[in-house]
Amino acid sequence: MAHTASQDIIIIGRNIAGLGAAYALGKAGYSSLIIGPETRLYGGFQLAPNGFSALEALGLRQNIDAGALAVNAIQLKSLERAETLAEISHDDTLPYAGISRQHILDCLLAAVKNLPVTMMDSHLKALDLGRGSAQNRLLLETGDIISAPLLVGADGPAGLCRSAITGYQPEQAASDYLAMRAEIPASTLAKSFSNPVCQLWLGSGSHFVCYPFTHQGQSLVNAVYCMKRSALSSGASEAIQQTFSRHPVLSSFADNNIVWQETDLPDCESLPVWQRGGLTLIGDAAHQMPPHLAQGAGQVFEDIACLSECLTQAPPEQALRDMARIRSHDVTAIMQKARQSGSVMRLDGLSARMRNNFIKMAGGGFVEDWLRSVWYGPKR
Ligand SMILES: Cc1cc2nc3c(=O)[nH]c(=O)nc-3n(C[C@H](O)[C@H](O)[C@H](O)COP(=O)(O)OP(=O)(O)OC[C@H]3O[C@@H](n4cnc5c(N)ncnc54)[C@H](O)[C@@H]3O)c2cc1C
Repeated sequence: MAHTASQDIIIIGRNIAGLGAAYALGKAGYSSLIIGPETRLYGGFQLAPNGFSALEALGLRQNIDAGALAVNAIQLKSLERAETLAEISHDDTLPYAGISRQHILDCLLAAVKNLPVTMMDSHLKALDLGRGSAQNRLLLETGDIISAPLLVGADGPAGLCRSAITGYQPEQAASDYLAMRAEIPASTLAKSFSNPVCQLWLGSGSHFVCYPFTHQGQSLVNAVYCMKRSALSSGASEAIQQTFSRHPVLSSFADNNIVWQETDLPDCESLPVWQRGGLTLIGDAAHQMPPHLAQGAGQVFEDIACLSECLTQAPPEQALRDMARIRSHDVTAIMQKARQSGSVMRLDGLSARMRNNFIKMAGGGFVEDWLRSVWYGPKR
């Protein structure tokens, strides 16, 4: 039966930002209720030094590292000419890895287990931000109404929390750029794809990224092919077949048994303001990153580490306000770089050939310089 109840802090969204926020609050002694469906995640992501530093500050590295597969280099290659253009090598001290998304989620779930965190397997249907002394009210799909003075919006870029801040619902229409993602058993691909290397193949109006990771002892390869929808003569799966089936190096990715998942890559923006009334956004709800710097989750961990630090100085209301102020500033620069990287990766025709020639001439050091401020912060 539907009922009403009151909580102190409600977090909407049960993925890495939601669980991470609950962990930071719980560690500081504050109880929270997470609302969101139980999720099983697919595939992996790359985690760079800034993501590892944030996890270290949160005391989460040991468990997460146990499932991380170190990636020793990033190779930039020409998709058309099947040649290596440049390479960024990591020394042993630089933490860069491919990690299973589900492993991260499992680690966060384990981390909140002994903290005052309650989870409710439900969807938020409507949100009324209280004005003045009125509490924020949430209508759930179960018909329950719950209220709380503090809300944390971790429900992703298309969630209701972001809309409650911006005042508009994002368009549902498919974006022009899309990613096809697959998690592939390494044993079904050529051996070179199991090497601890991230390969970025730059094409004309498209690019392909692959790197190894493991999940529960299984060796896997995460593959993402990004392309323009408007340039497709037929479906995205056909484009994959066309690109890979006759490719001298990538032909094993044309296997019909590979299940590709289509993900829209809309134009992204980081909100300048992440807070309204008692609601504060965190993670992709505040800053959906284009995936071209492989930084989305890394930035989520930075949000959480920042919140955790702010909670050592102030109670949740002020700490959330401080986190939103600090992080909305820092993320803007990363977002700008991710968008610029995306524009370069999306070049086609002559511009794409000139880009590849330039990378070949400039070498890995040039690309590493571009990434340095992302991986180590603006000061280095
Ligand atoms: C192709 C691609 C490749 C990527 N590669 C990388 C990479 O290599 N490295 C990296 O760091 N990042 C990468 N990312 C980004 C990364 O996946 C995201 O930044 C990260 O998953 C964001 O987590 P989040 O918890 O903030 O949001 P989300 O993952 O969007 O989670 C939001 C949660 O809220 C829930 N929710 C939504 N609406 C409601 C509602 N009404 N009520 C309750 N719950 C709700 C959803 O079910 C979901 O569980 C990539 C992204 C893409 C698309």
